[in-house]
Amino acid sequence: MTMTAWLLLLASPAAAQMPAFELPINPLRAARDGGAVAPEPVFTRTVPFPVEAYDRSKFSAASRRAQAQARDAWLKDNDDPRVVRFTIPKTKAYFEKVLERLIAGSGLEKAMQAAPLALRVNDSSWGSPSASMSSGVLRVDPEVAAIMDSEDEVAAVIAHELVHHLRAHHEQLLQTVKKHPRTGGGDMFSAPVPSKQELEARWYHECEADALSLRLLANAGYDPSAAADALRKVKAEVESDPIHGARAGRGDPTHPSLEVRTEYIARVIAAEKLPSAARTRGGLDEVHAECAARTRGGPGDEPASEIYRHYKTVKKP
Ligand SMILES: [Zn+2]
Repeated sequence: MTMTAWLLLLASPAAAQMPAFELPINPLRAARDGGAVAPEPVFTRTVPFPVEAYDRSKFSAASRRAQAQARDAWLKDNDDPRVVRFTIPKTKAYFEKVLERLIAGSGLEKAMQAAPLALRVNDSSWGSPSASMSSGVLRVDPEVAAIMDSEDEVAAVIAHELVHHLRAHHEQLLQTVKKHPRTGGGDMFSAPVPSKQELEARWYHECEADALSLRLLANAGYDPSAAADALRKVKAEVESDPIHGARAGRGDPTHPSLEVRTEYIARVIAAEKLPSAARTRGGLDEVHAECAARTRGGPGDEPASEIYRHYKTVKKP
């Protein structure tokens, strides 16, 4: 083959196209067979590891419109001026910094322009750590930062939610639910039961979010193994919480168990040979102090540092 032919081949769209992302290990089979599936590397190692956004033009115009409306409603609800809020600018800036570093690390600026993401830190209540992603709004509790010991662990939580957004998991799930509706429930005594297809889709999304979040972490110079530690800390915190602990014991059919997820994370890191990194705190002390200084207001006016274990070690600012 001549040099020109080679160049043409390299420049052809087929050669430039990225292979579709496949999970390194089939998570559903891995879970059902007790993990008896050999991990297989999907890509040969390249840096940065590719993280491809889902092509949202696949969705119908009507479904995209519904998503935009849902997003507006979320934001309006979240930014309601009547809600009492705590002033936590350092905590908000910390989450924003982490998100920006993850986006820059994988060169996702263009993808984010095509599908904008709104980051909202829950500044109206405190207690339990959680993060969620729906309709382009990433909502995160300050506790997600307060219970962690490194920026890498905070980044792991944000990276997981960022993948849910990039891969349009919420939009895809809505389509699955439409095709395979939930049954029963609908009254105040019972919740509707999700279909087998919905649960499989959810598990697949959770595993894809875990797998790709590890690439986001590695690309941004964070330690990918922080993802497993972050999960363990969230679970321990939720279970030890007097209010939320009761709920935790009931199990959550929409997510694989902590054991399945942490084992999966370890296997993906090994299969893809993701490099580890020294973890840093990156200003986490100031965030902890800011969160601990909040008080509930009202008669007792108890500060967070008096109520929650994770603030007890924080020095008062
Ligand atoms: Zn998730």
